[in-house]
Amino acid sequence: MTDADWAPLTDELDRWARAGRVARFWLRDDDAVEPTEPLERLLALSARHEVPVALAVIPAFTGDALAGRLAAAPAAEVAVHGWSHENFAPPGEKKQELGGHRPADVVLASLERGLSHLARLHGPRLAPVLVPPWNRIDPALVSRLGGLGFRALSVFGPEKALGLAAINTHVDVIDWRGTRGGRPGGDLAAEMAVRLRAIASGEGTLGLLTHHLVHDETVWGFLEELFERTARHPGCRWTRLSELVG
Ligand SMILES: [Zn+2]
Repeated sequence: MTDADWAPLTDELDRWARAGRVARFWLRDDDAVEPTEPLERLLALSARHEVPVALAVIPAFTGDALAGRLAAAPAAEVAVHGWSHENFAPPGEKKQELGGHRPADVVLASLERGLSHLARLHGPRLAPVLVPPWNRIDPALVSRLGGLGFRALSVFGPEKALGLAAINTHVDVIDWRGTRGGRPGGDLAAEMAVRLRAIASGEGTLGLLTHHLVHDETVWGFLEELFERTARHPGCRWTRLSELVG
């Protein structure tokens, strides 16, 4: 990527810095279950640039191997990625594990189980945040999540008031509907700048969404350069999810 590709983002960050303001960035990476080569690459990248990463872990399929690995990754935290990442929507509907297709009590019990399973495995590394698979959840369930121990919900897109604090992601590095590879870095930088302008007058964050298991070299290259250009920029700070939860 050229300086011109980065300019929308870096110019905006320069403006924040000149105004004495610091934008809160955070990184959410979905679908971790166990240590893999792509996960190692992500953790190395995060450690090298001191960029904290919140791993949305699928409770049903994870265990001691991931917990053991993350014990040696101080920049990594864990959030609850549904229970099993199964789709319960009928064919033709958008995929959902946490939609209205099953009784609410059944869905909520699975989420409570996921939270306690990850708390046992990860202890204080777990941020009590629900990341619904496919970023979708029946809105009627959200106000009941606090009673299970969740402190925040994280989906994709603008935050909505659904009855629990929202700490969303806003920029997705992957072109899911097209190439299923990394999106052009210039587009991503421009989108990040748009989000920065949207939160310039408020308290919001900029959440970047990644999926380490499917990253191509375009994504890895983008992240490396993004962290090089932002990790020490005075206009932003990559923040731990637990800190955003407060
Ligand atoms: Zn997922």
